[in-house]
Amino acid sequence: MNFYEDLKNEMEELEENGLLVTIRTLETAQGAWLNVDGKKVLNMCSNNYLDFANNEKLKKGAIEAIEKWGVGPGAVRSIAGTLEIHNKLEKELAEFKGAEDTLVVQSGFNANQAVIPAIMGKEDAILSDELNHASIIDGVRLTKSKKYVWKHKDVASLEEALKKADEEGARRKLVITDGVFSMDGDIAPLDEIAKVSKKYNALVMVDDAHGEGVLGKNGRGIVDHFGLHDDVDIEVGTLSKAFGVVGGFIAGKKVLIKYLKQKARPFLFSSSLSPAETGAALAAVRYLKETGDPVKKLWDNGKYFQEKIKSLGFDIGNTMTPITPVMLYEAKTAKEFSKKLYEQGIFASAIGFPTVPRGKARIRVMISASHSKEDLDFAIEKFEKIGKELKVI
Ligand SMILES: *Cc1c(COP(=O)(O)O)cnc(C)c1O
Repeated sequence: MNFYEDLKNEMEELEENGLLVTIRTLETAQGAWLNVDGKKVLNMCSNNYLDFANNEKLKKGAIEAIEKWGVGPGAVRSIAGTLEIHNKLEKELAEFKGAEDTLVVQSGFNANQAVIPAIMGKEDAILSDELNHASIIDGVRLTKSKKYVWKHKDVASLEEALKKADEEGARRKLVITDGVFSMDGDIAPLDEIAKVSKKYNALVMVDDAHGEGVLGKNGRGIVDHFGLHDDVDIEVGTLSKAFGVVGGFIAGKKVLIKYLKQKARPFLFSSSLSPAETGAALAAVRYLKETGDPVKKLWDNGKYFQEKIKSLGFDIGNTMTPITPVMLYEAKTAKEFSKKLYEQGIFASAIGFPTVPRGKARIRVMISASHSKEDLDFAIEKFEKIGKELKVI
């Protein structure tokens, strides 16, 4: 029995190929600057877009919820774990999103596991963008539906798949796309996707994890950005990125949400958010209802950084959002670049296979509202220095 040897060998192979994930430990709370493994570094790899993760209003929301509700929900939502504060969050989130209702679950990952298998059976067809997030892929795997993968953002390829699904006799058809693709920062052409889906009478689902708090008025997300409230059937979101907390949700029609409360397995068989998380998320929603200032700062920072980094000659791919992929292609170069950045006081992770396709390795720079102009200038200077050292620019 070589089980443990096998695991070790596999990880050694990952390391040789520059694909072994280094797991860093933060010694300070989320923000622009962090202490990481004993070193002070500029944080350019968290999803804390709006700097909410350590925000006073959100912390107050969490503390007040703990004072009132304690620390745990005590049961799954469907038995005795639905607290008033859960319902309040779902209601206010729905109002914010302009949706009829929402269902909050433990994470964005779980939101996909909750909704996809609950509504899709073996007579049905799921049509998925080839670059969709792992949690969508896993959600799809939990169904017995027929799978059709269409080319990234390619509406003609989607139409082909829709035709094929019809020919093959699908009962329901569900078109799924990420809203903002987190590794490239590009935005799904949701208006065109909705149009072609309507033509073939297919349901439209968007996972807007990286668009929540980023796109649309005051961060209302991709559906608001395109004005598609009547054309998108299901929106999945996360509370763990721009919202700064943890949790996920599904937004849609009242009847869908009611149905999911009967059928969605992560809702039925796993306890929900703690009071602290729920209270903090509620505070985040209320904050964004009041002001779009953090969203504006995020976009201003993104624009500033991207203009400078492009003018130095770096390739930043097809980004349309503050997510900035600095394309290096070779996994080893990306690792080396990230290591040098870290030595120079910048925490920005190298991303390689299997998170992105082979040969598409990059440093993914996550710009946030926490960064000052000085922070961004500091980063640009270091990118230039290391880019020249490694002959990337
Ligand atoms: C990050 C992400 C998720 C997972 O969200 P969590 O709340 O962290 O589980 C799901 N879908 C997409 C598209 C994501 O980018």
